[in-house]
Amino acid sequence: MFNSLSDRLTATFKNLRGRGRLSEADIDATVREIRRALLDADVAVPVVREFTSAIRERALGAEVSGALNPAQQVVKIVNEELVEILGGATRTLVLAKVPPTVIMLAGLQGAGKTTLAGKLAHALKAQGHTPVLVAADLQRPNAVTQLSVVAERAGVPVFAPHPGNQGAVDLDVVIGDPVGVARDGVAFARDKQHDVVIVDTAGRLGVDAVLMQQAADIRAAINPDEVLFVIDAMIGQDAVATASAFLEGVDFTGVVLSKLDGDARGGAALSVAKVTGRPIMFASTGEKLTDFEVFHPDRMAGRILDMGDVLTLIEQAERTFDAEQAEKMAAKVASGQDFSLADFLVQMQQMKKLGSMKKMLGMLPGMGQMREQLENFDEREVDRIEAVIQSMTPAERENPKIINGSRRARIARGSGTTTTAVNQLLERFEGAQKMMRQMAKGGGVPGMPPMPG
Ligand code: GDP
Repeated sequence: MFNSLSDRLTATFKNLRGRGRLSEADIDATVREIRRALLDADVAVPVVREFTSAIRERALGAEVSGALNPAQQVVKIVNEELVEILGGATRTLVLAKVPPTVIMLAGLQGAGKTTLAGKLAHALKAQGHTPVLVAADLQRPNAVTQLSVVAERAGVPVFAPHPGNQGAVDLDVVIGDPVGVARDGVAFARDKQHDVVIVDTAGRLGVDAVLMQQAADIRAAINPDEVLFVIDAMIGQDAVATASAFLEGVDFTGVVLSKLDGDARGGAALSVAKVTGRPIMFASTGEKLTDFEVFHPDRMAGRILDMGDVLTLIEQAERTFDAEQAEKMAAKVASGQDFSLADFLVQMQQMKKLGSMKKMLGMLPGMGQMREQLENFDEREVDRIEAVIQSMTPAERENPKIINGSRRARIARGSGTTTTAVNQLLERFEGAQKMMRQMAKGGGVPGMPPMPG
């Protein structure tokens, strides 16, 4: 996502580095480069125009700053303007004062609504809410079943007009009446004291009047607190027309960008908030329940400008890491106890849980230049390490010093690797162990506050 835009912008800024002062001609050339990069990324023309003229004006008028050199100043301006077109401040869900909070999903077929319903429910549940999903997409065969599957995965109930429902569902609902299902779903949530209800609605392949009317009718019937318009980030130039049609036909309170994990050029993301005046609230980045983030305009701008996205990374780590395990590990390190191969294995497994290592590394600052190496990064490496450690006996895991030549050969055979791979792992482990010992002695990682306790 945004890779080529990011590369182009970074290259443009690189040209400015080392300049003492920027002439008007320099600024014009830079703005031209930025304009081309945005257009090539499929950003809508009016958005590009407004964006570049704001940058030009501000760059020309920029006061000389002691802290920033001219190139940094331009980056700062571009960053601020990017944050602006992405919607400014982060906007989170507005919860109803009197539950249930009603969230309606709208968008084209295949946009990712059903998938999002599960992700949203999963995230809300983790925050202590009690969401229920309502299957008001009666258009597409299987949509109800699909939502039921998603609900089960997320561990939340679903209100549906036929198989897949849970609880006391009103079976008098006429199948084929999505407005009725939506209305009854909200009543069901109120009855059963679910504090959030997420209503999935039907989409069509293209914008059509019947679809719009149905969504508008559902909206009128359930009076949602939030209407989230879900849009596939990969649809490129069509994004603006689609978003405008939904804005006019149904209206929505926020946007969800889905499939941000694809290698699309990203123009949708950069156009939709600006064109519709509605904030982007969430991003969907894959097919798994956890491939979901709150959309932070400032962090996204930082990612595009290759300033990394350390905050999102930290949040994901917090969500994924097992707090209990982490505490045990910290206690172990603090007490100076030895860090064993078994601990190393647990750590590797935690790392794997963080999801695609590539995705993770891509969020670190400065990774843009390393993208090629990143592409070659072999995720199977983690699997290999796991296999090697699992092929060791418990005694070997606790005390790798006993691993002699014949044990090495046995472990290599058992894990389907080579003795070289086993040796490499042992070397790496020794390095990690040394670091852990230092941490125990020195009271923490250099440059970090010492651990409490
Ligand atoms: P709906 O018709 O709007 O309900 O769309 P679905 O939720 O059924 O999604 C359509 C397809 O896109 C499915 O195959 C999903 O697995 C896939 N999908 C949804 N969200 C994402 C995402 O963020 N990334 C990727 N790669 N695929 C997604």
